[in-house]
Amino acid sequence: MDEQLDTTQGWCCDGRTYKEHAAEDGHCCQAEGTQIDDLPADGQAKARERLQSAT
Ligand SMILES: [Zn+2]
Repeated sequence: MDEQLDTTQGWCCDGRTYKEHAAEDGHCCQAEGTQIDDLPADGQAKARERLQSAT
């Protein structure tokens, strides 16, 4: 199955993209445009995992 990762608006600290969290809750807990390197270590690990499994 294809997973769509739209990272144009950045990342959430829980490994989702900003867009995914915003779509669910109406907003994301991170600032728009937050990059992986800006996330806490565990968030970075989750985000990179998502990136790897997405392609
Ligand atoms: Zn969030």
